[in-house]
This record gives sequence, structure tokens and C-alpha cells, in this order.
Amino acid sequence: MNSEDASVATPASAPRVIPRSEHSISRNHISPNALRVLYRLRDAGFMAFLVGGCVRDLLLGLEPKDFDVATDALPEQVKRQFRNCRLVGRRFRLAHVFFGRETIEVATFRATSAPSQGDEPLADADPEDGEAPELDEPQAETAREGGSERVVDAAGRILRDNVYGTIDEDVWRRDFTANALYYNIADFSLWDYVGGVADIAARRLRLIGDPETRFREDPVRMLRAARFEAKLGFTIDPDTARPIAALRELLAGVPPARLFDETLKLFLTGHGARSLEVLRRRGLLAALLPSVDRYLAGHPGSLVEKLLLQGLVNTDARVLADKAVTPTFLFALLLYGPIAAAIEAAPAARWHELATILAACDQAVRDAQVRLTIPKRFSLGVREMFALQPRLEHPRGRRALRVLEHPRFRAAYDLLLLRAQFGLAPAEMAQWWTRLQEAQPEERGRLVDAIAGEAHGPQPTPRRGGRRRRRRRQAAAPS
Ligand code: ATP
Ligand code: MG
Repeated sequence: MNSEDASVATPASAPRVIPRSEHSISRNHISPNALRVLYRLRDAGFMAFLVGGCVRDLLLGLEPKDFDVATDALPEQVKRQFRNCRLVGRRFRLAHVFFGRETIEVATFRATSAPSQGDEPLADADPEDGEAPELDEPQAETAREGGSERVVDAAGRILRDNVYGTIDEDVWRRDFTANALYYNIADFSLWDYVGGVADIAARRLRLIGDPETRFREDPVRMLRAARFEAKLGFTIDPDTARPIAALRELLAGVPPARLFDETLKLFLTGHGARSLEVLRRRGLLAALLPSVDRYLAGHPGSLVEKLLLQGLVNTDARVLADKAVTPTFLFALLLYGPIAAAIEAAPAARWHELATILAACDQAVRDAQVRLTIPKRFSLGVREMFALQPRLEHPRGRRALRVLEHPRFRAAYDLLLLRAQFGLAPAEMAQWWTRLQEAQPEERGRLVDAIAGEAHGPQPTPRRGGRRRRRRRQAAAPS
């Protein structure tokens, strides 16, 4: 690094080239499809590098989630090399090379060091940016200036703004030094412009360039810092961490759909429990999900907090075991506190009523959407999970068998188990549903007939006073 201020990671004009013999990245750990793409580009005379998170993860001995390639070939030139290739993205064109279920993303080196808000990350975080329009730009006008291409529509809106550059310019658009290493397929060396290798060894997250400027360019980088802190167990360098407290409210200006995507990456990729801890400690939960942060701050050490943490721990275990996880269940966990608070704001006699529960869900979802979008299919799922809780707590004879068939039964049952674990629902009912699912059809009949004769069976309306008292003790039970 050639910066006078050692704490600012300024890219050097030439990389430190670390030969194959001096680093640990082996082609055995690189996806064969990524290698195919790299070799093909190299053989066609282009530069081709693995870049970003995959290089970082390979150095850490982790299995990369996906492999990204950077090249000096222009997108059209990349496309010509592969039959299974599509160009995506309007603002920044990227090539996606498809191999069955695996997609290798190939990006041309870019010279834009200061992307405008929402331009990063590339294609996948901006669903509207999906397929680039090839034919539907009748009024589009192209202006070429020194290797860049800007396409504007009749109203002046920028449709495409590609500014291609060289690899040493490309480094600048990367966020953290650990994410800015390039693995060169020409000789298997590693190119390091920013001290990324040393930072990875020290398990340190450091923004490239002036941290405040880089967070202002793209406030999502604050969430990315928290995500990598949680995922990798890295420490955020003090100079990178410092501006976060003052800048976190800039997340208000980020498109809500992008914040939803980031939220899923924080909580559904195997380190959700740690993400919650980091987001709270860095004051970022208040900027991302203010109502959830307020609830947790107002109820320290509450059963709801324990339920949320345990739910995230369970979700992390599922991710590790390659089991499916859903945004619906995640938001049911995150919004449990706000939903319970909204229920408890109603008169106690109404807490069990479906209308109260649904109104509480709707209010909690509305409040949660100040910063991020929760797509309808997930918020409706949360509603169904909570609406099913009273039916799970008080099964009504043979109707219980129909509840088993409900498409949201499994998620609602998992929530019931968690609630029961923390005394927020009767444990014997959770066990009963477990038995019912495991039972053979004839035994199921006996189980539901037995419950019909017990206190948990059909409920008279209005509820008895005793039930109400029990509910009060079960602080924050959502039914
Ligand atoms: P993950 O393990 O989650 O895939 P990643 O580092 O690969 O982590 P991606 O979102 O896949 O993260 O992005 C790939 C690379 O693109 C990053 O490593 C980084 O170099 C660059 N990048 C992505 N998003 C940004 C951003 N918001 N600002 C700057 N650079 C970014
Ligand atoms: Mg990645």
C-alpha cells in the first residue's frame, strides 16, 4: 500500500503478485464450471480472474457459495465465447454462463469507483434489472466516450451506463480488502492491490478507500460489514466501524427490495443468530427493522428474545444441514415481539380472537416495512402461521385432522414447538401434535377423540375467566 495513512486501504498502482507456491488456493477446490469459463477466456486471449468472496473463502478454507469471474473481455465478447450465456443487467451488463443449476457470473473490469446508490451489488440484488432489453429500446440513443457507453431513453433516464476499465481500476469498486483479491488463471497467482491477504490472515474487515465516502456511496456496505463480521467472525477495523453510527440512517434511502434481499442474506445463510447480535451491537437493527429493535430494547432478556434467538439458531442448523428455510418463518420470528405487543394492546378478552391476531400481524408487517419490503406471499404466510396458533393450542376434535393438511401447518407447528419451549404455549399440546403426526391413521382417530373430551377440546365462547388469567401470565403469547 502506498498510502501515508496506514489505516486507509488505498489500492496500489501495481498489485503484489503472490505466486502459486506461496498461497493455498488449489484448483481442486474451484468449481469445474468456473475453471471451464476461466480457461475458455484465457484461451481466447483475454485476462480472466476469480474475484471477490470466492477467493476470500478459498483462502479461509471455506466452500464458496458461488464463483465470480472478472475479465477484460467486453460482455459481447464474453457472450461469443459461450453458447450457454446470457447478458443481464441494464446499468451494468454482466454475462451469466449457465451450467445446469450453477451459474458463473462474468463481469468486465469496471472503472466506476463510485457507484450510485443501488447500483451494487450487481445483477442478483436488483430483480428489476434482470434481463437486459435487447430490442425494446426504440428511442434509445448511444453515446460513446473513451470505452464507456451510456444509453439514455427519451426522458433522459439512464438505461445503461457501462464504464469499463482495467483491473487496477476495478479494485476500487470492491468494498472490503478481503473481497478484492484476484486469482489469475494464467499462472494461478494471486493479485493483491490492497493488502487483502494480510487482512484475511488477521481476520480483519477493512473498507477500501475512505470509509465514510464508501458508506455514503452505498449504505448497504454497512450491512455487508455486519454480515461478514457475523459470517466470517472477522473484526471490523476501527476506522471502518467508526462512521457506521452516524451514517446508519442512510439505509432509509436504499430501495426496500434491496434491503429485503440483504435481510435474507443476513438471516438465512447459516449465521442468523450471530447476525442479530452484530446488527444490534452496531446499531444497524434500528436502521433496518426499527420496530423489532424497539421491542427487543424495551423487553431485555424477555422470553420473546429467547424464542427469537432459538429460532435463529434452529434456522442456522437447518441451513447447515442443507434443509429448506423460508422467509415466512424468519419474519414470523422477527415479528413475534411486535405482533405480541399489538395483541396485548387489545383488551385481554379479545387476545384469542382471530380478528385481533390478524390485525396485530398486519400492523407488525406495516411497521416492519418502513425500511424493507416484505413480499405479500411471505407476510400472508406469517398471518397464517399466527392464525393457526389458537387452533393448535385448542384442537377441536376431528377438525384437528384438517389442520394437519393445512399448507402452513408445518411452519405453524414449528412455531408452536418454540413457543412451548419457552412457556409461551402449553407444552402438552405441542407434544400432542407431535404424536398426532407420527401416529398411524387409526391411532389418529383415537387421539383426536380423546382430546375432544378434555379441557383442550372445543372451547365455549366467551372464554372462561381462568383462561384469561393464564394468558396474562404467559406474557406475549400470540393467541
Ligand atoms: P458471499 O459470500 O455472500 O457471496 P461475496 O463477497 O461474494 O460474499 P457478493 O455479494 O457475492 O459478495 O459480491 C461479490 C463481490 O462483488 C464482492 O466480494 C465485492 O468485491 C463486490 N461487491 C458486492 N457488493 C458490493 C458493494 N455493495 N460494494 C462494493 N463491492 C461490492
Ligand atoms: Mg458471492
